[in-house]
Amino acid sequence: MTQSSTDLQKMLVALTRDLILIPSDASRPDDIERSFEFVINHVESLDNIIINKYYHSDIPSLVALPKGVTHPKILLCGHIDVITHADVLSYRSQIADGRIVGPGSADMKGPLAILLEIFRNLHMQYDNLPLGLAITSDEERGGNSGMRFLFDEVGIRCDVALIPDGGSLNEITVEEKGILHLNIQCNGHSAHAARPWLGNNPLERLAEATSRLRKNFDSLKTDEDHWHPTCALTIVKTPNQTVNRIPSEAEATLDIRFPAPYTVKDMLNHVCNLLGEEINTHTLISAEPTLLSPDPLYLSVTEEVTGKPTSQEKEDGGSDARFIGRLNIPVIVSRPIVGELHSLEEWIDIESMETFYRIYELYLKRRLLLTN
Ligand SMILES: [Zn+2]
Repeated sequence: MTQSSTDLQKMLVALTRDLILIPSDASRPDDIERSFEFVINHVESLDNIIINKYYHSDIPSLVALPKGVTHPKILLCGHIDVITHADVLSYRSQIADGRIVGPGSADMKGPLAILLEIFRNLHMQYDNLPLGLAITSDEERGGNSGMRFLFDEVGIRCDVALIPDGGSLNEITVEEKGILHLNIQCNGHSAHAARPWLGNNPLERLAEATSRLRKNFDSLKTDEDHWHPTCALTIVKTPNQTVNRIPSEAEATLDIRFPAPYTVKDMLNHVCNLLGEEINTHTLISAEPTLLSPDPLYLSVTEEVTGKPTSQEKEDGGSDARFIGRLNIPVIVSRPIVGELHSLEEWIDIESMETFYRIYELYLKRRLLLTN
């Protein structure tokens, strides 16, 4: 029983657009709940599927597994949260040039629609398929209460995880950089700005320290692929509101990304040494670099369905894959053709959604149904 391609595309487009309409971002927890209801409505009619909802720090996640299965062979993983856009009315979509255009279409409501459809269709076709589904709602906030919680604290395990939240159709992500988000802070002594010698300006010392960082990280550049540590200054703040006053406090945030074999500890030491003793550091988020080791069968299935070679790519950004990859569980990260991520013009190519669905379908059937 194969759905015709137009029916499948229509189904995926409708589901994606319905999901986009729910503004499920961190600032709207009720809408996150509503989006989970939507997902549950989509899969709960399946016989023999048990849906469990979990909460960590009030942040919900969902795991759907066939009855009696605690360790599925394959776990489909996604997140329902999107980044926050100020205007709630911007959570709309349009169809243009064969694409769904709208916030979250690519990251990752379109891919999530594919996960829901494939999960439902395969479980309708086959009994007792060892295929699970995990959906979280804090990926855009770091994944601590979602994928990390499910794997580290609930103890979810699988043989292989599929996360359509990186790479492209034929580009499979095999490595992700580590992340270090730091708050840096400096204290000084306030004075009238006409007599700067009476003060000790923390803002200027913070600026000097971040320029030392800038020069040092520039010197770590090794190649044109940018596969080296990077450091971006993202926020600079002082409580001072007065032009002619030297502030007594200043702070900033840094977003540092680094490939293996660097570790969080290496990077933190490196940055602290460069900043010097006068600057206090506080870690907001840290994650080690991840190697993902995808299943070779997935690469060959992708080539078979698309008729094109695959490439194994390194990704500058991190994803929820790190919480699974670090347990030595193979994670496959690829997705349909997408663009303009995190903008209002974010898009996903509709034809590639169907191609991607066919890749998943063939891979899952081969992995789950054939024993040899
Ligand atoms: Zn994402």
